[in-house]
Amino acid sequence: MSIAGNVGLADLPRICPLISRRVQSSGDATETRVVAVGDVRFGDARPVIIAGPCAVESREQTLAVARAVKAAGADMLRGGAFKPRTSPHDFQGLGVEGLKILRAASRETGLPVVTEVMDPRLVETVSEYADMLQIGSRNMQNYPLLIEAGKSGKPVLLKRGMAASLCEWLGAAEYLAKEGNLEIVLCERGIKAFPAGEYSRNVLDLSVIPAVQGETFLPVIVDPSHATGVAEMVEGASRAAIEYGSHGLIIEVACDDAGAEKPRCDAAQAISPATLGRIVSFVDARMECRAMRKAHAV
Ligand code: PEP
Ligand code: MN
Repeated sequence: MSIAGNVGLADLPRICPLISRRVQSSGDATETRVVAVGDVRFGDARPVIIAGPCAVESREQTLAVARAVKAAGADMLRGGAFKPRTSPHDFQGLGVEGLKILRAASRETGLPVVTEVMDPRLVETVSEYADMLQIGSRNMQNYPLLIEAGKSGKPVLLKRGMAASLCEWLGAAEYLAKEGNLEIVLCERGIKAFPAGEYSRNVLDLSVIPAVQGETFLPVIVDPSHATGVAEMVEGASRAAIEYGSHGLIIEVACDDAGAEKPRCDAAQAISPATLGRIVSFVDARMECRAMRKAHAV
């Protein structure tokens, strides 16, 4: 008996030949494609740290957080202008006004910006303001959105669907590649599996990192904020992700002097700039260790 639609890793060369390491590999199986966003290079030796607020709430809040994450050593700024919320009555983001604020924060700090686009009709607009488009977990299999983002030619941060298998995730990335866009960075952000919701928001699937790296040459990063949903867990999850070979991290940060008492979205998972600074120091220390080990091995 066979089951319609049931696919496994063996099917990947057929599902996503354009991004398959097995199909495309020119021999060196350890090579990762470097995806550049300005001066930031995903997939290079040094993991990329993206940080910023969950949502752009105001100019003051976004600029304060942008300055703080820059000072803490972040490489890129995140922040949602269009927010996917469970309830339509909740804050939905500032829209185009939020994009303008992000651009201003980028101009001031020099940090390139990644922000989510949820609607295929808005890919062009978001592309005008953002350096990298984020396709969120809820939209990982929004094929018209993937096709538009692929056509835009902009670098894309493709988050894993919250219940997506590796095959489904890489299949979604193939939609971007089929439009000629290989500027793709994958992002594990936790999956819905028991006991998600009991003591953490989702289950951080660390073992998918080496699995992704085995199947595709695209860089993969980790979002410890949405994976755990708990500020106290973010530092440990970040370190674990780096140890597993993640090419970077995307982290939500809030600061006290940001002009709002508490973020309007995801306050429980926002870390302080000081904690972000410790994560950056950890990444620096790991890179030094790796460099030393390499030098000794020669
Ligand atoms: C986000 O990063 O702002 C976000 C909504 O994440 P996800 O799509 O992973 O839930
Ligand atoms: Mn969030």
